[in-house]
Amino acid sequence: MPVTGEGTTPTGGNPPAYSTVRKNGNMNSENGCNHPEHVDGAEPHALPMPIPDPPIQYTKLFINNQWQESCSRRKLPVYNPATGNLLCEVEEADQEDVDEAVSSARAAFQSGSPWRSMDASDRGQLLNRLADLVERDRLILATLESLDSGKVFLLAYFVDLLASIKTLRYYGGWADKIHGKTIPVDGEYFTYTRHEPIGVCGQIIPWNFPLMMFAWKIAPALCCGNTVVIKPAEQTPLSALHMAALIKEAGFPPGVVNVVPGYGHTAGSAISHHMDIDKIAFTGSTAVGKLIQKAAGDSNLKRVTLELGGKNPNIVFADCDLEYAVEQAHSGLFFNQGQCCLAGSRVFVEEPIYEEFVRLSVERAKSKVLGNPLVPGVDQGPQIDQKQFDKIMELIESGKREGATLECGGFSWDQQGLFIQPTVFSNVSDEMRIAKEEIFGPVQQIMCFRSVHEVIQRANATHYGLAAGVFTNDIDKALTVSSALQAGMVWVNCYNAMSAQCPFGGFKMSGNGRELGEYALQEYTEVKAVTIKVSKKNS
Ligand code: ADP
Repeated sequence: MPVTGEGTTPTGGNPPAYSTVRKNGNMNSENGCNHPEHVDGAEPHALPMPIPDPPIQYTKLFINNQWQESCSRRKLPVYNPATGNLLCEVEEADQEDVDEAVSSARAAFQSGSPWRSMDASDRGQLLNRLADLVERDRLILATLESLDSGKVFLLAYFVDLLASIKTLRYYGGWADKIHGKTIPVDGEYFTYTRHEPIGVCGQIIPWNFPLMMFAWKIAPALCCGNTVVIKPAEQTPLSALHMAALIKEAGFPPGVVNVVPGYGHTAGSAISHHMDIDKIAFTGSTAVGKLIQKAAGDSNLKRVTLELGGKNPNIVFADCDLEYAVEQAHSGLFFNQGQCCLAGSRVFVEEPIYEEFVRLSVERAKSKVLGNPLVPGVDQGPQIDQKQFDKIMELIESGKREGATLECGGFSWDQQGLFIQPTVFSNVSDEMRIAKEEIFGPVQQIMCFRSVHEVIQRANATHYGLAAGVFTNDIDKALTVSSALQAGMVWVNCYNAMSAQCPFGGFKMSGNGRELGEYALQEYTEVKAVTIKVSKKNS
């Protein structure tokens, strides 16, 4: 079995690979629809390569367009999850630093400030200039992202970077198109609405898509004219800090964006409880989402948007294109090591094709190539940290104990720690923990169903409601099922098909509000109704 982890890789360590590279050398079979075709079609020599030993230039807090040390002088360690090696230490923000960042964001938001008096189209230009700089630094950002989060380098380059650039440009385009209405009221009055920025926005993001979440958060906030205090996850601060440097270089006025790496229970909690933050946007676990909502209630009732967990159904009818559905279900779950709120982790397959679907899914899972995510040919990296690794392994054990059939995987891989074999369970029943709890790892559950009515009931029998997939060539079935599913996004004959234009968010305990698309503008604006009494003296 050839090993693909060979060759020197940036910044230490080089775990070997799990399996052979698939024959077609296809590095981009994950996440079918929204992956750029040119990866699939590209000659290997044309593919971008990570930057060897990239310098980690930015490790301080970014407040008021200045780099500064934390008040406590504490630092947080940043590791490469593929090797366990320390990459660097960054300044660790806590309450006092958050206070300072909020003061700077508040000053930038004062009326008459350069930011508030800027022409809206210039705000759009700044976002586009930032997108240009991200394109310029695309290789370094993708390398940092892969080193810091364990993400496969080419996926970081083609998926995360592309999505971030497109998001910045999309909201750059909206900046000068945000306006209110005139409203007919009683003849003595004239009423119009203004869509005004909310103010200082606290934003807390997770470690699974550090750069993309940064772009998803700042772009709509800034296009509407808000200012931002953003906290990256403690595991993955590096791309956010690089973005801070680009924000300054693009020419955003001081205080408009402040980046404060720190831990959740300290810096994160300081943001969610802050009396001078007007709105909070959070992406992360449902458990922390509840804390954020509570903190908003306990403090100043700041506006809250939440993008939380999922236990997403992916429904495969017997009339589908079987091999395509297997591939989509595979990438819909295993993309990013399964560390996605969108992961289609409950695959419901109609009885006539169940056995064949399981067989092909197992074959596909076994073909995955584990190893250092910077090395060409590798398509599954490590889990992010020991806590997540332990949680996933514990859930795998529960699946074995509760009687699901372990078709492949089921164990860790490699001595170095954070890799988990691609795992497929069949004969999973709805009461098992692996069918109910968000695993956030490379573990696929395949269940059998017999009727449309039954599968709708079972798919909706969860507190979550983020995303769902349906595979069928029958338009009636597609429409019936997609209407009945309780989920913020439903994909028919595709999975993970996302774009900056398309709203993203969940029903039920998967969250509140929507990100992306025009819908996100509502989450970053207050509506003010101005009513003017019209004098009759000229009539
Ligand atoms: P995970 O469990 O996947 O690590 P979390 O929801 O814990 O996800 O983390 C997502 C983000 O929320 C991170 O930036 C983390 O620091 C932050 N966070 C964690 N706990 C809190 C908290 N109590 N208050 C505010 N933010 C928090």
